[in-house]
Amino acid sequence: DQPTLQVPDSPQEIKELGNAFNELLKAQNQRLQRERDFVSNASHELKTPIAAIRGNINLIKRHGDKHPDVIPESLGFIDEESLRMQNLITNLLNLSRADRAELILENKNLSEIAEQIGQQYQKTIAHELKLDIQPDLHIKGNTDTLKQIIVALLDNAHKYSPTDAPFTLSVKKVASTVQLAVIDNGMGIPDQQKDLIFQRFYRVDESHSTEIKGSGLGLSIVSQLVKLNNGQIEVSDHQPQGSIFKVTFNEV
Ligand code: ADP
Repeated sequence: DQPTLQVPDSPQEIKELGNAFNELLKAQNQRLQRERDFVSNASHELKTPIAAIRGNINLIKRHGDKHPDVIPESLGFIDEESLRMQNLITNLLNLSRADRAELILENKNLSEIAEQIGQQYQKTIAHELKLDIQPDLHIKGNTDTLKQIIVALLDNAHKYSPTDAPFTLSVKKVASTVQLAVIDNGMGIPDQQKDLIFQRFYRVDESHSTEIKGSGLGLSIVSQLVKLNNGQIEVSDHQPQGSIFKVTFNEV
């Protein structure tokens, strides 16, 4: 059967059709605007390290002979900026993968996955990471992306906390759900910005993050991956200071 367009015959119906059409256009325009913003942000973020790399190469070319002492410092910048670019590109690829992916979700022991990641992670950092994990809590999920979610949240807790501030990875049963949480004693997130941090490229204002390197893509990837695992993510304050990132799944 061919779909047919029902021509409305009352003025009221025409008005409703017009409204529906306008809503559709508005949604479409917003989507296009978000895509344009994304491309322009991504290009801008890539241009900054490239400019720094080229600047330092020129410096070495022009002054390297007479002032060889500029070389190690410039190479240091080049090293740092190219790493930044590499991380950004990895994040962009992850984001576009997460945008398109549809995962096969299977029964997984989230407690075991979290325990394993937590123990490995502890070996790579100077901070104390506390594990507070109830055993054998199962959810429907995908192991690789669950690991990615946990590591990204641990990375942030680590990045945005002073070295003497321990943080915790917990997994517990709450009613018929399983809650995974990363609880830190770091700088915290102002209330007005709690929703914004999940947007692409958003970083809490300069004073908060300039010293700490990042692209502002991590949490947008996390929230996409959480959605693909049918979970929900929220952020709240930890008292007396710091943040709690909580991811909730249905227990199976
Ligand atoms: P990135 O860390 O690369 O900037 P994210 O998307 O992971 O990007 O995080 C977005 C912003 O949210 C960060 O720039 C930071 O300002 C804030 N943020 C994320 N996690 C934490 C945390 N645990 N404590 C304080 N601020 C955080």
